[in-house]
Amino acid sequence: MARRKTLWGRHGLPSSRPPVQFYARALVERAARGVYKAALMFRVDGKIALVTGGSRGIGRACCEALADRGATVIVNYVKGEQAAREVASGIGARGGKADIVGFDVADSKAIDTAIDDLIKRHGQLDILVANAGISVDSLLLRMKDEDLEKLWATNVRGSIACARAASRSMMRKRWGRIVFMSSVVAEIGNAGQTAYAATKAAIIGAAKSIAREYASRNVTVNVVAPGYIDTDMTAAMTPEQKEQLVKIVPLGRTGTAREIAAACAYLASEEAGYVTGHVLRVNGGMYV
Ligand code: NDP
Repeated sequence: MARRKTLWGRHGLPSSRPPVQFYARALVERAARGVYKAALMFRVDGKIALVTGGSRGIGRACCEALADRGATVIVNYVKGEQAAREVASGIGARGGKADIVGFDVADSKAIDTAIDDLIKRHGQLDILVANAGISVDSLLLRMKDEDLEKLWATNVRGSIACARAASRSMMRKRWGRIVFMSSVVAEIGNAGQTAYAATKAAIIGAAKSIAREYASRNVTVNVVAPGYIDTDMTAAMTPEQKEQLVKIVPLGRTGTAREIAAACAYLASEEAGYVTGHVLRVNGGMYV
């Protein structure tokens, strides 16, 4: 007696059922293409979001995560205009909305001009991911004052100045989300990263203070503290250094930019409306 065809077989496809991973992968791919948009959690529909340092690495992933969840994303860059254009056009190709804006976060005047201008153009600014950052590593005795100043200007003053400029629109609208990018080294330290760790720790203090200052205006302010993530910033590490590093990560691997972006998307969403002044550690268990 002929075996009854499976549902799969009746649709003209091979009669053996594909493995469960096939369905899972198809679902994820369709979600990424926007087919199941309504099913994605942490929507930010209709919001205008600025991601500083959105042209590469973690910032790029944040742009994509926010755009996939319905925000119009402004991709900031300092040198990588072409890369920023590619991020924006990639978002456009997936059915999202994006624009680019170039300014140096170490230049407070440039920040004010650019952010005022984009608020005029888009009518509002609801979400800021203050992600742009640099690292300059050196042992304390070899540390140069100019590196210390450069790190401070970009990582600390830059993030705070962006928050100050962006918050004007958020205060008016009585709705806003500010997410600062810190680092696991802010909390555990790292030999050779004194200046960088200091800037990333400063961000936590700033975020907690702004969180208290803006809570009455329904503007939340939080921090994401990534562990070691595969981006250009960590690309200079040798395979041996990476191997050593992974040994101290309980989850046994480095993180991905998408994993950091997912945390940012959550903190930017309506669902995170009662979370403020929080440091969300996304570090594979490196510091708990
Ligand atoms: P990348 O070096 O890969 O990317 C840095 C991004 O910041 C680029 O888009 C760059 O723009 C932008 N940028 C740098 N300086 C400025 C500036 N002065 N003004 C405007 N934009 C600027 O870094 P990551 O993606 O790895 O890091 C992003 C953030 O995450 C940083 O704050 C970093 O400290 C933090 N972080 C990273 C970790 C990691 O392991 N990668 C771990 C913990 C924290 P352009 O393309 O124009 O140069």
